[in-house]
Amino acid sequence: MSLLVVSLALPVSAAPKASFSLPAQALEVSQGVFSLGQAYDIASDKIVEGYAVVHKKGYARSSATRGPKAPKCYAVMADGAKWKTVENWEVFAGAGLGGAFLLDRLTHSINTWEIVATNPNILGVGSLGAGAIVDPFTLDNENQVSFGDLENGTIAVTVVWGIWGGPTFNRQIVAWDQIYNTDYSWTEDALLEPTKMDFWNIAIHELGHSMGLSDIYNSSCSEVTMYGYGTEGETKKRDLAPADVTGINLLY
Ligand SMILES: [Zn+2]
Repeated sequence: MSLLVVSLALPVSAAPKASFSLPAQALEVSQGVFSLGQAYDIASDKIVEGYAVVHKKGYARSSATRGPKAPKCYAVMADGAKWKTVENWEVFAGAGLGGAFLLDRLTHSINTWEIVATNPNILGVGSLGAGAIVDPFTLDNENQVSFGDLENGTIAVTVVWGIWGGPTFNRQIVAWDQIYNTDYSWTEDALLEPTKMDFWNIAIHELGHSMGLSDIYNSSCSEVTMYGYGTEGETKKRDLAPADVTGINLLY
C-alpha cells in the first residue's frame, strides 16, 4: 500500500495587487463626481450619501468660458457640508513610497489647509495602517489612504460620505477614503524625478476634497490647488493659492 502525498507548493509572491473600480451603479452627477448612493452611518446615526471624486490626468482645456469677470477659482461640494467631528485616519504604504514619508506629507498637507482655515483639527491624526484598505467605495468606520490600481487616466480618487442636501445647518461630512493609482510612478519629489507623480502635489488636492472642496475646471484657474487636472512632474499645487484659501474658509 502506498500513500501518495501531493504537495502543492504555493509560489511565494507579493500580496495581490489591489484593483478598484467604481461600482457599476455609480452615477456621474457632475464632471468627475460620481454618486455612490446612500448608506447608514453608525457613528452619526444618519443616512448619508457617498461621492467619488475622480482626479484625471490632463492639462488646462481651452474650452473654458471667458468673460469680463474673473472666474471664481474655488467651490465647495455643498454649502455647509463640512466636518463637525474629528476622526483619525490611516495610510498604507505603496507604490514604492514608505509609510513614514506618506504619513508625514499627508499630515503636512492637512496642516496646510487647517492653518489657513484657522481650524486646528479638521481631519484628525494619521497613523500607519496594518493590512490593506478593503473597499473604498463602501462606507465603513475607517478613513483610509491607499495605493491601488484604478482606471486608466485617473490619478487618484477621493471618496467622501456625508449629508449634502436639506437644511444647511444639518449638513456634514462623516467619512473619507483615498486611492492613488499605481498605473503611475510616484515620487517623494518630482523636482528630482519630473517623469513621476509628486505625491505631495496630488495629496494636498485630494485632501481638499476630504474637507469638502470641489474640483475647479475653468482653465483660467489652472494654478490653484483645487484645479481638476494634474500631471507628472507638477509641484505647483504643494502650496495653496488665494482662491483655495477663500474656498476652505467658506466651510470652516
Ligand atoms: Zn480633484
